[in-house]
Amino acid sequence: HWEQRIYGKKNPMKRRVQHYGFRFNYETNTTDLEPYKGGVIPEIFQPMINRMLELGIISKQPDQLTINEYMPGQGILSHVDTHSAFEDEIVSVSLGSDCGMEFCLFSEQKKKIGVYLPRCSALVLTGESRYAWKHGITKKNFDHVICKPQDTTKEAGIEHKLFPETILCKRERRISLTFRRVRKQKECNCAWPGPCDVQVQPKHKKAGAAKQITENLVNILNENSERSEELGRKLEREHVVEFYETAAAHFSRTRHSPWPNISRFLTVRKPGDNENNEFHDYDGIDEDMLIGDIGCGNGKYLRCIPSSVTAIGTDISNNLLVQSRELGTHNHD
Ligand SMILES: [Zn+2]
Repeated sequence: HWEQRIYGKKNPMKRRVQHYGFRFNYETNTTDLEPYKGGVIPEIFQPMINRMLELGIISKQPDQLTINEYMPGQGILSHVDTHSAFEDEIVSVSLGSDCGMEFCLFSEQKKKIGVYLPRCSALVLTGESRYAWKHGITKKNFDHVICKPQDTTKEAGIEHKLFPETILCKRERRISLTFRRVRKQKECNCAWPGPCDVQVQPKHKKAGAAKQITENLVNILNENSERSEELGRKLEREHVVEFYETAAAHFSRTRHSPWPNISRFLTVRKPGDNENNEFHDYDGIDEDMLIGDIGCGNGKYLRCIPSSVTAIGTDISNNLLVQSRELGTHNHD
């Protein structure tokens, strides 16, 4: 049942994976809601799940299992499991090899915290650790592990301070079993809007999203199929249209001064203008012109046009058009 996912031409994911219950889509980072043809979670895992339920480390029966094979030197990019795709309570069981995992807060990604996952252990992510912390595995063959020392030791009545001891642990073939519950409704009311894909907060989304957009665009350019066009429209809707719709009022307040070159372009031509050094042949409009501003935003350039000239503005963002209407159409009279 192993499938080798290859996505992105430069960084193909070399890990082998298996999916049960629902299949994970590495392009959108969500689960396909269609139950996966590979079947539900195999019976063989049920005793393990029962034990987790008995121990109270999870409260609900998982319905999705992803099995990852990590060969030495393989890893997984730091990520937060998509909020809209999975519920709280994510369990990752390590088999075959110990492994170091790195955690960092989504809001403070430079500060990394290492967590050592011994073989035959279960890592449980709930609440803040599930929603607000990124986790990943660095591609290496060895992990430096700090063995927690006893702070002091007594020898013949003399107290010695012990230094933390670092050991190198060689990675072997590791199998991880990730148990999750797929969200049937794509909603999330978590307290961490920053990493949340449901609670759209342009302010928080911007930084991480920019990188994602670039990656997606590169993929689109690499593909050049009908699907890429569809993906392009989806990207535009998600990152351009929704951004302006949500941020229209703020955006509008910060975009009120017209650029001088454009306001000169929009002034009514008068005889003698061409003697002015700053005035080019293409500058200026005539009173009998009909001006169209396609993508007029909050209408700041429509307001440069005197009311004696007819101008029509359109924009994909309805909220920006509302701003435009509220701000009025003419500055001049
Ligand atoms: Zn959330």
